[in-house]
Amino acid sequence: MTLFPQTPIELQKLCNQTLNILESDNNIEQVKDQIELIKFLIRFHQHYYYVLSNPLITDAQFDQLFNILQKIESVYPSLITDDSPTQKPGADITDFHNDNQVPVVTKSHLIPMLSLSNIYNDGDLQDWLAKIQVVAQLPIQDILFSVEPKLDGSSVSLVYEHGQLLRALTRGDGTVGEDITDNIKQIKSIPLIIDMKQFGIELLEIRGEIMMSKDAFLAYNEKVEESGHTPFANPRNAASGSLRLKSAQEVATRNLSAFLYHVSYYSMAPGYTPPVALSSQANTLQFIQQLGFPTPISIMNDVRNTSNDLPTLWHGYKLVQAIQLIEAHRDKLPFEIDGAVLKVNDFTLQEKIGMTNHHPRWAVAFKYKAKQVFSVLQSIHYQVGRTGVITPVAKVQPVVVAGVTVTSISLHNDNFIKEKDLRIGDTVIVERAGEVIPQIVGVLLSKRTGTEQTISFPSTCPDCHSTLYREGDEVAWRCVSINCKAQMLERIIHFASKDAMDIKNFGTATVQYFFEKQLIHDIPSIFRIDFEKVTQLDRFGEKSVTNLKTALDTAKKQPLYRLLYGLGIRYVGLNTAKILANQVDSLLDYMQKTEDELLHVEDIGVKIAHSVYHFFHTRTNIDCLNDLASLGLSITNEQRLLIQSGNLTNKSFLFTGTLEKLTRSIAEKMVVEKGGSILSGVSSKLNYLVVGQDAGSKLEKAKRIASIQILSEEDFLLLIDQK
Ligand code: AMP
Repeated sequence: MTLFPQTPIELQKLCNQTLNILESDNNIEQVKDQIELIKFLIRFHQHYYYVLSNPLITDAQFDQLFNILQKIESVYPSLITDDSPTQKPGADITDFHNDNQVPVVTKSHLIPMLSLSNIYNDGDLQDWLAKIQVVAQLPIQDILFSVEPKLDGSSVSLVYEHGQLLRALTRGDGTVGEDITDNIKQIKSIPLIIDMKQFGIELLEIRGEIMMSKDAFLAYNEKVEESGHTPFANPRNAASGSLRLKSAQEVATRNLSAFLYHVSYYSMAPGYTPPVALSSQANTLQFIQQLGFPTPISIMNDVRNTSNDLPTLWHGYKLVQAIQLIEAHRDKLPFEIDGAVLKVNDFTLQEKIGMTNHHPRWAVAFKYKAKQVFSVLQSIHYQVGRTGVITPVAKVQPVVVAGVTVTSISLHNDNFIKEKDLRIGDTVIVERAGEVIPQIVGVLLSKRTGTEQTISFPSTCPDCHSTLYREGDEVAWRCVSINCKAQMLERIIHFASKDAMDIKNFGTATVQYFFEKQLIHDIPSIFRIDFEKVTQLDRFGEKSVTNLKTALDTAKKQPLYRLLYGLGIRYVGLNTAKILANQVDSLLDYMQKTEDELLHVEDIGVKIAHSVYHFFHTRTNIDCLNDLASLGLSITNEQRLLIQSGNLTNKSFLFTGTLEKLTRSIAEKMVVEKGGSILSGVSSKLNYLVVGQDAGSKLEKAKRIASIQILSEEDFLLLIDQK
């Protein structure tokens, strides 16, 4: 058997075996024969969870499998082998890395970094307390426990030497972890220098959890999805994925937080005795805070009214209440937690109770109700986002997960479907991450019957049927049709915006309003607005109508680069639009240009060339341009044509304000040399008003005459220059 099954059948067989074990009565006698298989299956699932981020069973099922093994081993201690998963924490070291990740450099922890054993109910809790009582030889009401939220992030171990952060490691296999020092240094809540000298400490190993807050997670995922990549399934994956990035700079943008809760090692300078605080967990948390680190307790600060509401220390007989109190706050916390960690407070007693190679016996994690459930993938709908990204959305059998009924789940993109090998009819694991977004985290392969249907991603837009395209390094398919209804509102807002066609009195709110009232439905319709209907609208008086009409007439005369920018072609910003507009006599010339030709234009890279090529090879976009031309907008480069014909004959100019690059007399000379004339004032005879800094009344006047084209100094240089 191999941990990395080669065929789907092998993979499915392992999943079936897992379920058989989970679903059988687990008569210990019988399972004894199966112990090797269970150990193997645990490692197999750890690999799918940690390394491939593609769990095949729920967290709760994994814990159940692990507990079965623990139970058998407790009945048959002679069967415990050194390599049993119960003897070592699950390895989270990735054995493969994509381009964004650093090659793995592993280093040893000073002290092994263990896991925690999990409990789920009052019965488990009483069993654990009973064992503690025996070792402590004290009644349970006399034993104090530190109760902390169990942070659902990625664990980290930091080493400080003489006050300086020396290295940071992930848990790894508990003995060695991945070196993530450079990335950890980007996290604001981790001090690079701490004052441990005041306590006489020379070397300190301190442990905690790296987290991404729910807000940061949602904001980050939104950005990722918009850029056409696959978002993280939950804040935990987001934190651990971010920690393994190649670029420390990128890590800095991820808004990670750190919470420290354990001092695993320290050495004292000669003549010093260990700080008194380091004799109990509650005092250690305060000591950690004093050194300048946030602790899990500080997470509760926002929701805690007074420190009496939620003390850190609890007597053994009150633990149930403490666990429930933290759970009651769970959804309000800014970070994900998945349980409460109960720790014997006194370190002398901790030592007496001891630990296994896998976990301390003096602490347990009480896991809260799973946020993972099963559902069935029934069908897929494809949605067109406002930027043209096509998102597959799974319709699933309604399920309640973490208190909310879920019926639709975003599948992000084609690659996500392929990576998870999702099929219609599959039983899937659904998780609600960051309290809000439901995700499909895996497929229950053992439930496959063979009747499930594979999913084929559409090649055309579900809305307007244009052929979809995708960027080389992106996973998202996009519709680039300017006529796609799903993207229309955004496109119109962009077209009318200040940097594009600058249609005055036609900002976002007005565009939205007109769109709702069906006065506009695509870009050309802006120039066909039925003003009769507009005057009937509450918000629109006669003056507003006149202003809008003037604004539309002015917009028709905008220079070509503004129109090109206004078309909203991906990657074509204002500067690129200026470069591209200057290359052709008519925008329609781009229909004939190959990607290679586009690449030869200065400053045009592969992405822009690819995007421009697709835009001008999409029929609906050409139809839209022709329509705009028929409405009186110029799709030709008049200025270039003018220059090509060698002169500015019959064109009149006037300057106002201070020019930055030219003196006014040089500018005027340039016009005259090309055959143009300079007028003395603004009138309907004027063709171009060139506007510099602090322009005066000439500008105001010119704005009222629709036939005058207003140019910035840069526009003027473009017009006059043959570049
Ligand atoms: P598990 O990942 O299920 O093995 O759970 C053990 C992990 O819980 C530890 O390795 C820590 O990374 C994490 N953990 C989160 N919060 C705490 C806490 N307050 N005290 C101890 N461990 C914690």
